[in-house]
Amino acid sequence: MSNTDFVLAIEDLTVSFDGFKAVDALTLYVDKNELRVVIGPNGAGKTTVLDLICGKTKSTSGSIKFKNKELTKLSEHEIVRTGVGRKFQTPSIYENLSVYQNLEVSYPKGRNVWGSLTFKRTDAVLEQVHKIAKDIMLEDHLEMEAALLSHGQKQWLEIGMLLMQEPELLMLDEPVAGMSAKERDQTADLLNRICENRSVLVIEHDMEFVKKIAHKVTVLHQGKILAEGTMEQVQADERVIEVYLGH
Ligand code: ADP
Repeated sequence: MSNTDFVLAIEDLTVSFDGFKAVDALTLYVDKNELRVVIGPNGAGKTTVLDLICGKTKSTSGSIKFKNKELTKLSEHEIVRTGVGRKFQTPSIYENLSVYQNLEVSYPKGRNVWGSLTFKRTDAVLEQVHKIAKDIMLEDHLEMEAALLSHGQKQWLEIGMLLMQEPELLMLDEPVAGMSAKERDQTADLLNRICENRSVLVIEHDMEFVKKIAHKVTVLHQGKILAEGTMEQVQADERVIEVYLGH
């Protein structure tokens, strides 16, 4: 497989903060329909990698190609338009709107040219909202005010809002933090469904959850890759046990 066949191809990526390399010559390839999990101790550089991909942080050197398009010179908005969606740990949903409206305003045309929200119940929007509400297990809560959802349901709603924009790469930072065991299992099923149509990149600490979802695991340590492979492979790697899993 040539490097141009990957959806995401990160090569020799470095970012320095006052001389400190938070990400150090990182090379990482993610396939179409792959669900990749990035693990590693605190301060390893995991969040910074997602920040670099979505343009929140600018790299010092190296390249990030998404569908063969170079992202390092693009703005955050331009990167979203290429098909990259990022979910942060704290959900940014509209608490006072219904589940339906939250999904509706996330439809790419749900904002007018001035950036304010518009509610257009066209057939295309209606169809998309219902399809995604089913995926995120909220089809029976469409008229409920988002503030009344459980913590887990709010996380799913935000994932749904990102899916409304049909990203080809979805990035999630600790998606099951604070969830119940049942919600964690449901989220694993949700992510497995999501990657049938797109690639998913997840940062996660919950190893039981990682086992359920990861096609491949990348272990970061001090901004570099310590190990990469299936969960079984990285779990058996002595360096990984020493710096991360052994604690
Ligand atoms: P992780 O997500 O693996 O816990 P981070 O990516 O948040 O790690 O951070 C990696 C390292 O980079 C940490 O030492 C952190 O303090 C440092 N870092 C991250 N962002 C900045 C920044 N904007 N300025 C200075 N240092 C930063």
